Amino acid sequence: MAREQVFNFSAGPSVLPLPALERAKRDLLDYGGCGMSVMEMSHRSPMFQEIFDSTKAKLKAALSVPDTHEILFLQGGATLQFAAIPMNLLEGGAADYAVTGNFSGKAAKEARKYGTVNIAADTSDTGHDRIPRQDELRLSADAKYFYYCANNTIYGTEWQYVPETKAPPVCDMSSDILSKPVDVSRYGLIYAGAQKNMAPAGLTVVIVDRSLLGRELPVTPEIMSYQTLVKTDSMLNTPPCWCIYMLGLVLDWLKEQGGVQGMERIKRERAAKVYDYLDNSALFTAHARPGSRSDMNVTFRTGSAELDAEFVKGAAARGLVNVKGHRIAGGMRASLYNAMPMEGVDALIAYMKEFEVQHHV
Ligand SMILES: *Cc1c(COP(=O)(O)O)cnc(C)c1O
Repeated sequence: MAREQVFNFSAGPSVLPLPALERAKRDLLDYGGCGMSVMEMSHRSPMFQEIFDSTKAKLKAALSVPDTHEILFLQGGATLQFAAIPMNLLEGGAADYAVTGNFSGKAAKEARKYGTVNIAADTSDTGHDRIPRQDELRLSADAKYFYYCANNTIYGTEWQYVPETKAPPVCDMSSDILSKPVDVSRYGLIYAGAQKNMAPAGLTVVIVDRSLLGRELPVTPEIMSYQTLVKTDSMLNTPPCWCIYMLGLVLDWLKEQGGVQGMERIKRERAAKVYDYLDNSALFTAHARPGSRSDMNVTFRTGSAELDAEFVKGAAARGLVNVKGHRIAGGMRASLYNAMPMEGVDALIAYMKEFEVQHHV
């Protein structure tokens, strides 16, 4: 049974690869002939352990995670990491935070409860429409880590470089993980909520340099201690079993598409098509400045709130769903995650052209 064809531009939870969903559907009631769904299995069973280990191995391979780094499968969303990071790595000292959007701002605010936060950059003065250059970063000598958000999901900007910092970089990659190769060895910690580009909501992936373990504040809850979570292989308590299984299926699909290199090629093509159109449009404008633009979340507007609303409504009527911008940014946002087919991008641009012809005077 096919489902009604829509192109889902949601920023998250978001589109998943159809082959992964179809595989899950086949396994739904009875995984591998065991008479149980993955949803019903004990997380301590050999069968689930195999799913867990293979998913971890697939992620390690997909991102070329070096042996110096540990992979954790956790709950609590990306937001829990806003607190877990300072509780584990700040040691009551200072850290540098680049505030380039909503989520990095929230992370900086949370970290202030546990130590000193130096704002290394803040792009709010221009509505977070750009990423700071390396030479603009105000780095402090005593920082325990440098925090940034690789892709600003709400504003549609993306770091095009890995900052050079003495302190280990800690990075929120929630909305661009697995969309391009990353040199994991350069990072102290990488984390991502799964629901943007990896799996259903409920799983958070943390990749942490083992040399940073064991620095947690005494008040750090056991369930948030990276050291404890590494020791227990993410199973201090029940892990998000179903989401881990789904991530495994998504990683199988990703490998067939040429891995992160394949994803990078496709994402550049998808985003370039939309930005090209926007830059030549007399009606629509892109929010993010060239050189700072996200390939994953393209933010744009007409300049009229009424026209924006009409565009969003008309898009939905054509099966182009969830193109409304985030409430704090307004306008429109097309999220072009890994699983977005090129036909979705073409259909969106075709509709934008049609809308422009009708509405531009
Ligand atoms: C969605 C998002 C978050 C918040 O994720 P939750 O899992 O809902 O806590 C944080 N950072 C970025 C970059 C995001 O896109």
